[in-house]
Amino acid sequence: MLALVKTAEGPGLELRDWPDPAVGINDVLIRVHRTGICGTDLHIEAWDPWAAKTIRPPLVIGHEFVGEVVEVGSNVIGFAPGDLVSGEGHVVCGRCRHCLAGQRHLCAHTIGLGVGRDGAFAELVVLPMTNVWHHWRGIDEEVAAIFDPFGNAVHTALAFPVLGEDVLVSGAGPIGLMATAVVRHAGARHVVVSEPNPVRRAIAERMGATIAVDPRERDLREVGTELGMTEGFDVALEMSGNAAALRSAITSMAHGGRIAILGIPTAEISLDVNEIVFKMLTLRGIYGREMYETWYKMTVMLQSGLDITPAITHRFPFREHAAAFAAARSGDAGKVILDWTL
Ligand code: NAD
Ligand code: ZN
Repeated sequence: MLALVKTAEGPGLELRDWPDPAVGINDVLIRVHRTGICGTDLHIEAWDPWAAKTIRPPLVIGHEFVGEVVEVGSNVIGFAPGDLVSGEGHVVCGRCRHCLAGQRHLCAHTIGLGVGRDGAFAELVVLPMTNVWHHWRGIDEEVAAIFDPFGNAVHTALAFPVLGEDVLVSGAGPIGLMATAVVRHAGARHVVVSEPNPVRRAIAERMGATIAVDPRERDLREVGTELGMTEGFDVALEMSGNAAALRSAITSMAHGGRIAILGIPTAEISLDVNEIVFKMLTLRGIYGREMYETWYKMTVMLQSGLDITPAITHRFPFREHAAAFAAARSGDAGKVILDWTL
């Protein structure tokens, strides 16, 4: 098969022939149709300090995909050749306290597809059957290809009840954009998106933001007051990884406010804990997706009218992966899709 491979330590990726993955008795072999490019893939391509510490080449990268089942192991039930599926990219141990309790997203022994094992930027990918998710016939395959980051958005957006609440989304990358549409779909009153990039602010307004503001120009508390919030935001979704964004979210919350933090900072952040204490705020870290409640919620929200397609802005045939990575890196893109059928 052809695969996009990190062949050696250092920057770059190679599209090359690679052995087809072996199919174990519990595994599902999938022919990849489309993949999404994630920030993680950009880190691995660039070989930044995180990648140098984490990745052991050679490695087929990529974890956001949709494809068609081509073969199943002898133990596999419920999947058959021809099924349209995506994969949960976190392969858990299945044996720890949390896995056994059905809280697989809390597994401390997770191995990442395209990070700790060969990934999906290839013509074929293999996953244990417990990591494979059925799609319904007729789903938009570009949407199906990004269930992994869509799941990050849904897991964060639904971490706290948002019906009737005023929600702050800080950071309108692909995940913040999808989260904006999700909290709107889930019944939020006002959704304020804070994002320095004007291209992304414009997409946020198309995806349901009440208003999208530049945090360098607007004070978020003032924006809230103008919209009629009496104290501040009820819920914030931190999706930028930026220190100033987290601090201004904390400052803009109402008493009892709840902050779900998905964004991954590159360094330690100092916070005014007094503000957290006296406003009795809840801060909650979010990693990955709940297996598989988040996946269920994604499916049924799409079936009940949620539209995340404006977050997808670029498509490339897989052989043009360098151009696709450049688009994703530009910062002006939403989600970038690679088509493996062309
Ligand atoms: P992204 O980098 O494309 O988006 C981040 C956005 O934040 C950018 O548009 C940037 O302009 C904006 N931003 C920068 N400074 C800001 C500020 N002060 N205020 C408001 N916005 C600001 O990332 P993404 O792919 O959308 O992912 C969002 C975040 O979630 C990233 O930090 C990513 O590393 C993280 N992530 C976490 C998980 C997890 O499981 N916890 C999974 C995937 C991604
Ligand atoms: Zn486990």
